Amino acid sequence: MSIKVFNTLSRNLEDFIPLDPNGKQVDIYCCGPTVYGYIHIGNIRTFVFSDLVRRYLEFSGYEVRHVMNITDVEDKIIRRVAETGKSLTEFTQVYEKAFLRDFKSMNCLSPHHMPRATEHIQSIIDLIGKLMHKGIAYQVQDGSIYFSIEKYRSKGGQYGRLIHLNFEEMRPGDRVSQDEYDKESAADFALWKARVPEDGEVYWPSPWGEGRPGWHIECSAMSMKILGRSFDLHLGGEDLVFPHHEDEIAQSEGADLGENDQPFVKYWMHGAHLQVEGRKMSKSLGNFHTLRDLFDQGFAGVEVRYLLTSSHYRETFNFTMDGLRGARSAMSRIKECLEKLREVAGETKSTPTEEVISRFTEAMDDDLNVSKAWGIVFDWIRSLNKQIADTGLNPTQAAAALASWDRINSVFGLPFDPSDEIPEEILKLAELRQEARQSREFETADKLRDQIQSKGWRVEDSPTGIKIKPFQIS
Ligand SMILES: [Zn+2]
Repeated sequence: MSIKVFNTLSRNLEDFIPLDPNGKQVDIYCCGPTVYGYIHIGNIRTFVFSDLVRRYLEFSGYEVRHVMNITDVEDKIIRRVAETGKSLTEFTQVYEKAFLRDFKSMNCLSPHHMPRATEHIQSIIDLIGKLMHKGIAYQVQDGSIYFSIEKYRSKGGQYGRLIHLNFEEMRPGDRVSQDEYDKESAADFALWKARVPEDGEVYWPSPWGEGRPGWHIECSAMSMKILGRSFDLHLGGEDLVFPHHEDEIAQSEGADLGENDQPFVKYWMHGAHLQVEGRKMSKSLGNFHTLRDLFDQGFAGVEVRYLLTSSHYRETFNFTMDGLRGARSAMSRIKECLEKLREVAGETKSTPTEEVISRFTEAMDDDLNVSKAWGIVFDWIRSLNKQIADTGLNPTQAAAALASWDRINSVFGLPFDPSDEIPEEILKLAELRQEARQSREFETADKLRDQIQSKGWRVEDSPTGIKIKPFQIS
């Protein structure tokens, strides 16, 4: 059986068949973070979802090439840069580093390429040049360049395929200069924004004058530069379907319209929204969580990851503190069972048990049905516990169970530390933190604490000295 995925383009479950004629390589692009603040758990859900997709493709034997960009120039960033008075790089570096720490603490595999938009300005200019040459981009009075939806459609381009726009029912929208807008105002969008005083020092030269790219063109240029004109799978949160992904298709396919009828992307997969305690997450409701807030409350990356991998990516997920506490106890159940198995297996090694792996695979092949897959895993753990208690397992059976878990966990990616032994590296960081505290360098001490947390450990200060504990233990 092959993997079935829900393709946003067709709104159907489709067999996943890579473009590679050998059926081996799979190229995926995921829209990365916009580095202007700390990422919240809604963003994290998208990244954990993408990581799960990549891991499952690898589990299924594909060789994955994974690209995730860093959006380091767009409207929101420029506004914040102007407020802080920093340079663009000074400003974005802080949040890029913070993002990478958060990403790592979620145990997400590093993408093979992480292009920054500011390092691909030339590719962006070249792509806009092609659109100008085709006559589907035009310059306006202030020097900015826009994509013409009308010209694109008149030349055979199909705009609105991803969001399923019905042009007959729509009023023609005005031109939009900002990066974010809704589908009621589907309209010509900016590819290149001419320099204005509010941009400060954020601008580049171009054949059309000084300015900066629009957000949408960045992803078209970077994905095609690295993965080629057509690739297998594009991922992102559902909020990116329109306009961002719709515009990516138009720009990418528009650049060689009439010469190449290959779709830009074969499969589009989108992760659903996340709510917190049943409501939309917002700062004003006080239910807005960054990963750092959760670490400060004593939760571990592993627990957040478990919780986020426990529900289907296309379902709106209700993130609750109770859920997170439940994740902690679910993790303990797995951990306890693994400990018992390790005790029985000793040095014995074995191969995974076919039965549980094939049931797990069947569930995951069905558009990543994680709820079913976790159900299978917990049933299996229950029966292993029963077997251990009733009849005892022999070392080979225990080793086979451990090998099965390793195989399954290559997809779930939960970073258990079996021995609870504190790694040398963590001890060293804790020591440095202690020194920093003693010399009252609290900022450095906090950074070190973050670093320790991002590796799955927690430092507690107590009257008798410091204690270092793994996060998953309450
Ligand atoms: Zn993007």
